[in-house]
Amino acid sequence: MNQHTLNNSYQFDGVGLHTGANVSMTILPAPEDFGIQFQRVDLGDVFIEANAFNVGRTERSTALEKNGAQVGTTEHLLAAFMALGVDNALVKIDAPELPILDGSAKVYTDAILADGLQQQEKDRKYFSVKEPFSWRDEKSGSEISITPADDFQLTVDIDFNSKVMGTQSASFSRSTNFAKEIAPCRTFCFYHEIEPLLKAGLIQGGSLENALVIVERQSEYQGKIIEPGYMSSRPLLFPNECARHKLLDVLGDFALAGRAMKAHIYAKKPGHTINTQIIRHLLEINR
Ligand SMILES: [Zn+2]
Repeated sequence: MNQHTLNNSYQFDGVGLHTGANVSMTILPAPEDFGIQFQRVDLGDVFIEANAFNVGRTERSTALEKNGAQVGTTEHLLAAFMALGVDNALVKIDAPELPILDGSAKVYTDAILADGLQQQEKDRKYFSVKEPFSWRDEKSGSEISITPADDFQLTVDIDFNSKVMGTQSASFSRSTNFAKEIAPCRTFCFYHEIEPLLKAGLIQGGSLENALVIVERQSEYQGKIIEPGYMSSRPLLFPNECARHKLLDVLGDFALAGRAMKAHIYAKKPGHTINTQIIRHLLEINR
């Protein structure tokens, strides 16, 4: 398989989910062996490579950091690049966080697929896992197992102890129609988390246009009764939309291997911290 880049440039404007900051971002084709790099054009053109050694904050999203410059909430764009097979691209951005758009990877995916990819001369570089690896956090119940393989497969199970969501599972392989089945699935949070997250300075750009809000118990907001269930500006796309979104997040974090990955991955209750720590560990032991 050869390396691929974009066939065109695309501009995306919006607000950052956590910072609420206005952002203008353009993704552009890049030469062979360039990988995925972010360029903070507002900070004197600082470049930040998309790899696990540049991971910064991982609270509720994955930020990359280098030489004092940061780009936050990288996971949805990186998931689209990884799933569509984009090896090389330059991402020019004028703010500390990517735009949240509709809370999914749909806008990126549809834009890129409309023009197809540009095949390059050199062979694609792969990251192959040599030994089986598994990691478990007793406290959180998170678990990730990785098995060597000739292709890439990912299964995600989630259980937030939620009556509304129940337990959910989602899978991805070469045969998955990413654009239809995974890319449009939106980010989510629980209604009772909103106030603490806002107080912590997060989700300043969050809204029912870019997130599913899960209401566990009947609640009252400004004199209105809110019934248990999903709250959003658009109906649920799949009964397991939340698991599919978590899978999207894992894809985006595993893209920080910096190369296409050959492995079978099982992730139970994944999160950005564990995902990025594992990728960093794998890069270190497989150098
Ligand atoms: Zn996400």
